Amino acid sequence: MVSRTSSGKGSTNLKGLGIKFGATVRKRYGKAYRTLHKKRRCPSCGSPRFARVASGIWNCPKCNYKVASGAYDVEIEKLHR
Ligand SMILES: [Zn+2]
Repeated sequence: MVSRTSSGKGSTNLKGLGIKFGATVRKRYGKAYRTLHKKRRCPSCGSPRFARVASGIWNCPKCNYKVASGAYDVEIEKLHR
């Protein structure tokens, strides 16, 4: 029997986009979405709640550290090199 399991990993049914848009757009959105919701730490206090508040603006609610960076990724590692 051929098992008909969907490929999983949520590549086709990501939140917010559903079955709208073509495969390329969904793929790109999926990558950005995953990068955006990745667990990161505040470079100032190390809190894992460091998150994006707006496109390109990252904020830590714990120590109020705010930084302007990429729209989908904060790239702190690159800045410190
Ligand atoms: Zn912080």
